[in-house]
Parts: sequence; structure tokens; C-alpha cells
Amino acid sequence: MPPDASIPQTAQRPACPICGKPAEADYSPFCSKRCADIDLNRWLGGVYAIPAGGADEDEDGEAPQQSGR
Ligand SMILES: [Zn+2]
Repeated sequence: MPPDASIPQTAQRPACPICGKPAEADYSPFCSKRCADIDLNRWLGGVYAIPAGGADEDEDGEAPQQSGR
């Protein structure tokens, strides 16, 4: 991919609305996929909020209950 001359590397990038770091072009306007996901979750209503620093997922949601026997 050829470099875009219309976008100088010294151009000021918009700060990531999530953490405030300089946004990356790949994840614009966010700095990383993580921040993009966070914002996406906010858009969804925050129902599926990602627990920060915790992989405690409950996989006991749709377990077929065998009440017979
Ligand atoms: Zn960020």
C-alpha cells in the first residue's frame, strides 16, 4: 500500500475518546481495538460490559437440566 501523501505523519491525530491516547489509523478514532470494543459496548447499552481484568465468565447459562433421574 503506497503512503498517502495527503496525510503527513506529523499530522495531529485525534485523541482516543476512551483513554485519551493518540488514535491509530487502523482503529480510528480509537487507539486500539480494545478501546474500539469498549466504545462499541457502550453503544450497545453497556449490557455486555467487559470486566476489566477478570476472565470470570459464567458458562452456566444454557445448560440442559436433566430433571429425570
Ligand atoms: Zn484508547
